[in-house]
Amino acid sequence: MAHCHEMKSGEVYICSSCGLELQVVKSCADTGACSCTEPVKCCGKPLELKK
Ligand SMILES: [Zn+2]
Repeated sequence: MAHCHEMKSGEVYICSSCGLELQVVKSCADTGACSCTEPVKCCGKPLELKK
């Protein structure tokens, strides 16, 4: 699961359903401004960290 405050710059996240891949260019973890309560989703499912 990928909450946006856990995403680090440079990491790639993938949707296991449609194959979309997203790379984090800038993280929000440093700002402390994130108020997300749900993981980042695509196709109704949380994105997974690409290994
Ligand atoms: Zn998708």
